[in-house]
Amino acid sequence: MTHIAIAGAGFSGAVLAQELGRAGCRVEVFDARPHVAGNCHTARDGATGVLAHTYGPHIFHTSNLRVWEYIQQFGEFMPFVNRVKAISGDRVYSLPLNLLTTNQFFGRTFSPAEAQAFFAEIGDRSIAEPANFEEQALSLMGRELYEAFFKGYTTKQWGMPPSALPASILKRLPVRFNYDDNYYASIYQGMPRHGYTQIVENMLDHENVEVHLGTRFDRSMAKDFDHVFYSGPIDAWFDHSDGRLGYRTLDFEREEHAGDYQGNAVINYCNETVPWTRIAEHKHFAPWESHERTVVFKEYSRLCGPDDTPYYPIRLAEEKTQLARYIEKARAESGVTFVGRLGTYRYLDMHITIAEALETAERFLAHRQGTTAMPAFVVDPLA
Ligand code: UDP
Repeated sequence: MTHIAIAGAGFSGAVLAQELGRAGCRVEVFDARPHVAGNCHTARDGATGVLAHTYGPHIFHTSNLRVWEYIQQFGEFMPFVNRVKAISGDRVYSLPLNLLTTNQFFGRTFSPAEAQAFFAEIGDRSIAEPANFEEQALSLMGRELYEAFFKGYTTKQWGMPPSALPASILKRLPVRFNYDDNYYASIYQGMPRHGYTQIVENMLDHENVEVHLGTRFDRSMAKDFDHVFYSGPIDAWFDHSDGRLGYRTLDFEREEHAGDYQGNAVINYCNETVPWTRIAEHKHFAPWESHERTVVFKEYSRLCGPDDTPYYPIRLAEEKTQLARYIEKARAESGVTFVGRLGTYRYLDMHITIAEALETAERFLAHRQGTTAMPAFVVDPLA
């Protein structure tokens, strides 16, 4: 029986465990934390009974039907659409930038075509090829909107001016010329009725799968297994021999209130003068439940230290050079495949992680039949 170790019980690890366990492998999953589901972990808040996302808001969305059908095998999903509000100056707007945001911001009544023509006017046409976040924003929406919604928030979130960040970060958010205020452009979206942790527990619930919590997996343990899938930080596998890869981490300030605190799940604070980036009121992530009291978390971003939880890979030029060195080392290893957000040092959403884990399991099972070795990466982390 092929004996597999999986480091990390987040979505990467849980999908791999489920698929390989079902295919007849003996799977041992290790996680340093006392719970499964990684940063997607959900737990009932003791004082209010609200289902809280312990490591900040996670909204499931995908346009991949296979992933959508797959995840629903492990738990019920409830209809949920993320409609984010943003406070800029002393006013509240709708995000992502849509026709309501534009019309409210400029005090206009533009039609979609008029708004599009207006954006062509306000966008900075001198920027032919935006080289960074700021240029991307200026060319798309001009200075006023950029400064109102993106400059302050992004500076707080990443701890550096947007001119130092890649344009790809802004591309996560659409600009719309209609009144669609859905934060995501995905076809499918929803929230697990009983939280992500229950889904991950169900994925791990297989007779061939054994889970060891509170147990950090390291390279020295690999010799006992036929293959290792590692979803921990790639630099930790190599004892940070080429330095620590930079991440942003988050701090959450908890507040409890009566009733409804802000009337919405997420409100972003776009001004730099407000120290938090956003406030999440978790009862609104589960609108089918009712709770008398409410719990909110103010979110603060800062550079991740050695003992903090990594959230967002920074991935600037310097980190990418460092990553390239780790990739080279990883490719020289045998018997280990690096997966997930930390294993490949990429800003991955849950649905991408699941799709890649499914592909990784398929590739492994195909390799098991053949003579070629399983590669260190199924997706190029630098692509
Ligand atoms: N962003 C911003 N203002 C906002 C929301 C987002 O400037 O009100 C920028 C910010 O740089 C952020 C990026 O857009 O990192 C992507 O936002 P997203 O909501 O996808 O971030 P996540 O929810 O993953 O933290």
